[in-house]
Amino acid sequence: MPNFYLKTYGCQMNVYDSERMVHLLKPLQFTQTEKLKEADLILFNSCTVREKAKQKLLSDLGRLKSFKEKNKKLIIGMGGCVAQEEGDRLLKRIPHLDLVFGVDQVDQLPELIGRIQETKSRLAVTAFDTDPKFSLSYVRKDFSPVSAFITIIKGCDKFCSFCIVPFTRGREKSRPPREILQEIELGVEKGTREVTLLGQNVNSYAHEGYTFPKLLRLIAQVPHLKRIRFTSPHPQDFCDDMIACYEELPNLCKHLHLPVQSGNNRILKAMRRWYTIEHTQERIEKLRSKVPNVALSTDIIVGFPGETHEEFEDTLKLLRDIRYDSIYSFKYSPRVGTLAYEFSEELSEEEKNERLQRLQSLQDEISLEMNQKLVGQTYEVLVEKKSLGLAHAVTLQGRTDTNKLVHFKGDASLIGKFTRVRLTSAMPHSFLGDENLGN
Ligand code: SF4
Repeated sequence: MPNFYLKTYGCQMNVYDSERMVHLLKPLQFTQTEKLKEADLILFNSCTVREKAKQKLLSDLGRLKSFKEKNKKLIIGMGGCVAQEEGDRLLKRIPHLDLVFGVDQVDQLPELIGRIQETKSRLAVTAFDTDPKFSLSYVRKDFSPVSAFITIIKGCDKFCSFCIVPFTRGREKSRPPREILQEIELGVEKGTREVTLLGQNVNSYAHEGYTFPKLLRLIAQVPHLKRIRFTSPHPQDFCDDMIACYEELPNLCKHLHLPVQSGNNRILKAMRRWYTIEHTQERIEKLRSKVPNVALSTDIIVGFPGETHEEFEDTLKLLRDIRYDSIYSFKYSPRVGTLAYEFSEELSEEEKNERLQRLQSLQDEISLEMNQKLVGQTYEVLVEKKSLGLAHAVTLQGRTDTNKLVHFKGDASLIGKFTRVRLTSAMPHSFLGDENLGN
């Protein structure tokens, strides 16, 4: 039986696409292997959001030349955003690469592999699907994870000046609600209890009168679905109806990740983010007034071209004012093909590093203070896996509905189940806890 090796880089949408690839390769009798040297088919599902990561991936790919010399039947393929961005240039650059397939060609993977096996040719297929409809036939047939990703919309129409996504993922297209619902219902039948709805701009969802809040209300009715999450929404589209969903739907997790990117209005404008800090603060205040215990997280980019010290200070002020539970923070990374790539006032790496460090130290303080207030409380936790790298006695990790990561001692049979855990001590990014079955 031939083996395939698949490595996934980047966001959850790539994770979801990789899951689909595994599903599509099954009828070809391929068995998945974790060992590169055992593979007859090697696939990389790539990400191009950071230039450094892209260069690392290309150098990893370059090193596969010796594998190809040892196994003449080996097929090496690259999908995802780097494939979409580079197309057939990759075939010229990497002579041992056989297949380049774009984000809209995942469903064609078995056919493309068949063509390469038959004709011994090399292929690059990256055209965007021009059909205005977006449909995925994927359903998890034999097994569905307790926590499953579900793509509901793909592409992006926003064109933020720093972002390559609209060029690698194309225009926004929303999947029909019926299809999304069917995927969730079948998943729940097979054991899924938590879904994360995915899209580059998940709250831009629009399909034949269905808005994102309307879709949330539909999904919330699926029996035995205990948790609904989504990522990533855009502040511009974070409407009152979404806030109402947080109030109405008991299975919508009390956590909002709303990427703000900067705390300064001039920088937001230069980023082509068409909202203001005042708008974001008003949205968050309104949500907090209706759902007081909601947890908040965001994305921040430091060192955008031309960002002054004062403008960076505005971002620190925003963190102090809003007091997010956690943030994902990045140094600005220029991407060829984006508008910001043409901006001349690039900051030095040293300056960007220093700003990133100040931002993260401040947020660590805030996160720790926020977390310490929760110590002593008991939460329902969905157990994800064994904890690694912590004290010997701590064995499992799981998440609260507010997306807090908790490590606690428990039996491995709890993995994939819900249990109640009392938080016993807080760190900036996680908690230690005790399983609390009596509560
Ligand atoms: S909204 Fe998100 S995906 Fe779209 S361009 Fe901006 S950062 Fe990129």
